[in-house]
Amino acid sequence: MDNPIDNLINQLSRLPGIGNKTARRLAYYIINLDKSRVDQLTNAITSAKENSSLCEVCNNVTDMNPCAICSDEDRDKRTICVVELPKDVNSIEQAEKYRGLYHVLHGDIVSTPDGDKKVDDLLARIKKDNVSEVILAFSPNASGQASIMYLSQVLKDLNIKITKIAYGLPYGSDMDFFDKETINIAIANRTEI
Ligand SMILES: [Zn+2]
Repeated sequence: MDNPIDNLINQLSRLPGIGNKTARRLAYYIINLDKSRVDQLTNAITSAKENSSLCEVCNNVTDMNPCAICSDEDRDKRTICVVELPKDVNSIEQAEKYRGLYHVLHGDIVSTPDGDKKVDDLLARIKKDNVSEVILAFSPNASGQASIMYLSQVLKDLNIKITKIAYGLPYGSDMDFFDKETINIAIANRTEI
C-alpha cells in the first residue's frame, strides 16, 4: 500500500486530463489546505456523486427527474440534439443559444454491445414525443463520424428532419475544445443529411 500522499497523487493522476506532474501539484496543494476546505472538497465530490442520476427522458446526468432542461416549458421539445456524452450537453449549454432538448447516448453506439438498445430508446422517444428534428452533434473524430453514418441510416425512414452540426475545427478534435462561438456557429450552420 502506498503512503497517503502517494495514494492521493495516484488517485488524482487517474482523472482525465491530469498528468502525474499536475497530480503531484494538486496533492500538495490539498495537503496544505485548511481541514475545513478539504472537507468542503470531499463533501462536494461525495454529494455530487450521491445526488446525480440519469434523466429518464434524455439520459443526461441530473439531480432532478426529469432534468431541468427537459422540465423547462420554454424549450423546443420537438427538436432533439443527440450527443455522445453528458459533457457535450454541458458544452452546448455553456454556449447559451440552443433551445431544444437533448438525448445523451453515453458513448459509442456502433461498436458497443448495448448500442442497439440505445438506438431503440432514441427511436422510441422520437416517435413518442413527436420530434420534428434530430440534430446529430458528435465530435469530428472517427467514432463520431461512424455514429453519424449509422444513425442517419437508422433514422431516415422516420420522415423527420435529420441534421448534423457544421464543424469549424479539424477532423480528430473533440467538442470539449470548441469555444462558445464555434459551438453556436456549428449548430446554426447545421446541414440536413
Ligand atoms: Zn432530461
